[in-house]
Amino acid sequence: MSKKISTKLIHTGDGQYYKKLNTYKSVPEVLPVYNTSVFAFDDVPSVDAIYDKEAEGYIYTRIRHPNNDAVSSILAAADGAEDGVVFSSGMSAITISILAAVSSGDHIISSPVLYGGVHDYLQNELKRFGVEVIFVDFNRDNIEKYIQPNTKLIYTETICNPLLEVPDICKVSEIAKKHNLLFYIDNTFATAIVARPLELGADVVIYSATKYLSGHSDIVAGAAVGRTDIIEKIRSKLVLYGAILGATDSWLLARSLRTLDLRVKKHSENALKVAEFLEKHPKIEKVFYPGLKSSPDFERAKSQFQNGLYGGMLSVNLKGGEKEASIVIKSMPEIKYVPSLAGTATTVSYAAKTSHRFYNREDLEKCGITFGQLRFSIGLEDADDIIEEIDTALEKI
Ligand SMILES: *Cc1c(COP(=O)(O)O)cnc(C)c1O
Repeated sequence: MSKKISTKLIHTGDGQYYKKLNTYKSVPEVLPVYNTSVFAFDDVPSVDAIYDKEAEGYIYTRIRHPNNDAVSSILAAADGAEDGVVFSSGMSAITISILAAVSSGDHIISSPVLYGGVHDYLQNELKRFGVEVIFVDFNRDNIEKYIQPNTKLIYTETICNPLLEVPDICKVSEIAKKHNLLFYIDNTFATAIVARPLELGADVVIYSATKYLSGHSDIVAGAAVGRTDIIEKIRSKLVLYGAILGATDSWLLARSLRTLDLRVKKHSENALKVAEFLEKHPKIEKVFYPGLKSSPDFERAKSQFQNGLYGGMLSVNLKGGEKEASIVIKSMPEIKYVPSLAGTATTVSYAAKTSHRFYNREDLEKCGITFGQLRFSIGLEDADDIIEEIDTALEKI
């Protein structure tokens, strides 16, 4: 008896079509998007074999799926890592990677100038789980002095937000190894094109892939790469907390990564030109950019970064405060006030009012974040046009 229409509509051309495709002599030039929440099996032993790691295969998309694995492997390759995993946001990559490393009663040493959300997590949220965090200035203080018997993790950023300071990654790695601690580093501002902290001894490199890795301001994602044993632990927490990046966004991220090298080189070249121009500008009190020879971070950055590149982020202290910052922001028609970074377009942000809004005054001051400070994410436009627009706006103050 022929099947009824509702049945035909449901089963014709379903996932089983994949078996036919697998016999073809051609494969797609680009990995397609696997928009499926789950996978189908012919029999019970097949599922058992996958769970028991006797066979390869996918089961359920929250656990693993092809697009996530593919993009994770690109990121691991870029950083020279054994393994990697891609999350639904930078924050989930960071919080879950940390949760994989510490338990109640443990202690973390972190630098104080961090992405605002991470600072909040370390300072307030982890306390609720009995994890203690001490904030130490990695460049001015001896972090070894703060290691306790319960210290498990050292955490910092390759280029700290928003003052673009650069820690001595090799030195921190040595200390971590000597005391058998894990060393995690957020490499969002640098990317593997500018810095490869794993090669300098870090254990895990973490990213907000929302920024340069995706690079077009169109998705939110995060990643962690490192040794297989640590990434496996992190992956098991990712599965538990349900923070895997979905198929479509994983595919978009993979597409963006094909041009990461080109993009970050151009971001960096443009940023250096803008930084050199602003350094001589009469309305600017100070420029923060690790690629400037006058920067206190220059030597550290030069010796640890690749190919004379220093990234696309720079901050400035205007001669003035909130009023002047507001005038400059309002006077740039194409450079938009965007509380994020690393897209193709140059944007400006105001740390004291956005990413670091929830720091109290005292912490802001301690970190050197002021109300006359602007942070630029230098885009892929022509450098001369970027400079002219900022220059015209600075003339208004
Ligand atoms: C944006 C950012 C994060 C947070 O990432 P999301 O993708 O927004 O969750 C973490 N660290 C740094 C350095 C960032 O710039």
